[in-house]
Amino acid sequence: MRREIALGLLIAGGALALAVSGYQAAPAQQTPAPKIVEVEKLKDNLFMLKGGGGNTAVFVTSTGVVVVDTKNPGWGQPILEKIKTLTDKPVTTIINTHTHADHVSGNVEFPATVDIVVQENTKTNMEKMGAVTGLATTPAPNIFKENNGRGMPKHTFKDKMTLGKDADRIDLYYFGRGHTNGDAFVVFPALRFMHAGDIFARKGPPLLDANNGGSGVLIGDTLAKAHATIKNVDSIITGHSTVMTWNDLKEYADFNKEFVAWARAEMKAGKSVDDAAKEYAIPSQFKDYTANANQSKTNIGVVYNELKK
Ligand SMILES: [Zn+2]
Repeated sequence: MRREIALGLLIAGGALALAVSGYQAAPAQQTPAPKIVEVEKLKDNLFMLKGGGGNTAVFVTSTGVVVVDTKNPGWGQPILEKIKTLTDKPVTTIINTHTHADHVSGNVEFPATVDIVVQENTKTNMEKMGAVTGLATTPAPNIFKENNGRGMPKHTFKDKMTLGKDADRIDLYYFGRGHTNGDAFVVFPALRFMHAGDIFARKGPPLLDANNGGSGVLIGDTLAKAHATIKNVDSIITGHSTVMTWNDLKEYADFNKEFVAWARAEMKAGKSVDDAAKEYAIPSQFKDYTANANQSKTNIGVVYNELKK
């Protein structure tokens, strides 16, 4: 009898502990961080929206709004709400610079009528939404499959495509592999502006997403081709940093070419990835560049793998 009572108390105590821990966990789940979109006005009809993933460009044309990149999951609606404070015009078009979740996920929250344009390899990558080299080994659930295909591209281009004309004109270019195998350069000729996405994310080591076709051997050449081919651009919206100049793009091409030449020499000298990573430092001529030892080490591995093939 006594033993049964004791057991009953133990069970009741366990249930109480579970209930308490459940009660404590709930409020944290109910108060997610507010999604704050910050606006930087670049021209009367061009804005950079910051926060929640990659930089978003909002280009207001005579017929509607073109949005370049739509940030992380849950940020589509905050982008739409912020656009309403900038113009009464509806969003007509989304351009995604590449496949990564922090640039495409908001697509699913836009009206289904919105046209979506990407480079053709990016469409293939978005069908998979595979793991990103150097980040997670298992990919997040495919947000487009979860939304029955909503937010997937409706139009693609291979090397070049023009949307609209005159003041509304947008030129899309693809110059080869780099950050992924589908990085679009989005040019607004009338404004002398370009959105480069993550092939120029910041002044520092790039993310080279080999799993999505990226290339450490080729990224410098791809950037140099963009710099040599595209004309009449002064300012560049980067993937994750501030607005940069046209000369900054040339310098970034040189930075990446320098890196692959150095990695090639290290491999030739028989250095392991670990040994090479310990030696690496950003060359002094790249003045305001930020080091990222983990990314540089991953990138040495990516370059070595390519050179071995
Ligand atoms: Zn990216």
